[in-house]
Amino acid sequence: MSAPEIVPLLIVGGGPAGYTAALYAGRAGLTPICIEGFDSGGQLSRSFLVENFPGVPDGTSGADLSNRIREQAIGFGARVVMDDVVGVDLSRRPFRVVTTSHSYLADAIVVATGSVPRPLGLPREEELIGRGIAYCALCDGAFFAGQEVIVVGGGNAALGESIQMARVASRVTLVHRRSEFRADDVVEVAARAIAGIEILTPHVVEELLADDDGNLCGVRLRNLSTGERCVRETAGLFVAIGHEPATGLFAPYLAISRGHIVTSLTSTETSLEGVFAAGDVADSRYRQAVTAAASGCQAAIDAERWLVTGDWVGASVEPAVPVAARRRGPSVSLLIPEQAAEHSPMTDPVHDPAHDRTSSHP
Ligand code: NDP
Repeated sequence: MSAPEIVPLLIVGGGPAGYTAALYAGRAGLTPICIEGFDSGGQLSRSFLVENFPGVPDGTSGADLSNRIREQAIGFGARVVMDDVVGVDLSRRPFRVVTTSHSYLADAIVVATGSVPRPLGLPREEELIGRGIAYCALCDGAFFAGQEVIVVGGGNAALGESIQMARVASRVTLVHRRSEFRADDVVEVAARAIAGIEILTPHVVEELLADDDGNLCGVRLRNLSTGERCVRETAGLFVAIGHEPATGLFAPYLAISRGHIVTSLTSTETSLEGVFAAGDVADSRYRQAVTAAASGCQAAIDAERWLVTGDWVGASVEPAVPVAARRRGPSVSLLIPEQAAEHSPMTDPVHDPAHDRTSSHP
């Protein structure tokens, strides 16, 4: 591998947060590098239709919106690199970031790695991925044209995937563990209006059934109010039960709470000086394309201010300093959520009352 490339700002993540951070940092003249992964666009690119992004009144596909932000970032001088980060060392500055083909030394980092689909956690789930189990209708829906499929979940993603799959599958069964949906009313109304979607609540998938070739052929369902069980034959199971923040390689260096990177209540600063976090990886509450984009903007501004006015001393190696350690007294703003709740429930960055109903959310 060649010598590390030295950059002022490295952005990790190619979703609305990462691309927007790249856009702002590029426009600020920081010539940032954005490592977008091999699956660029993040979760947004998998949304069939995005109708709630301001300035796009007629809606567009997530992939189109994502690509537009990406192009805008490139237009302002950001270098967007299709590669995966496979290692980081944040124990000293400049921070070291290793991808599959390159390595970088970065003065500041914006972590915008988003989230990954939450699995059901059932035996055989892993081995059946790509053999009937999928987590993205937009990506894999066409494989099930004319077949019966099941979608699991009760949020916007599950209902959106059901609507989308109803266009290609012969029949869609939407399985949700509660009788109330978490999805927006407008999405629920649209799903209920489609004859090809059967809604089964309150049901859970209890077992995955495979044929002799190792492909999914059915599921065992349980009715949570009656306890009755039944087997449904299906070629495809789309799991849409939320996402886990992709903290991965960064978790050992940063404060994490309930799976998310902890950020300051007033900025995108993490617990480590010079590292900023934006988008779903640090957000358990809003998780919208527009809020991810907004926090990407904030992270770029925070990083720029820190690079310009902070006490960073060029490419010399020095120990990274946790933000909390260099702050004093009541001005400390970096609170873990439990502490924040004690100070003021109105400013709790993580607690989401809607999620109190579930035991499986992080
Ligand atoms: P959500 O967290 O909103 O919903 C997850 C759903 O999965 C819930 O209904 C939950 O049930 C269910 N669930 C969780 N764990 C399990 C489990 N172990 N077994 C069975 N069911 C489970 O996630 P989404 O991915 O739907 O949405 C995430 C965010 O992205 C939301 O803010 C959403 O609004 C947004 N989004 C926006 C879109 C758009 O605007 N176009 C499209 C898609 C998502 P329960 O309700 O009982 O907790």
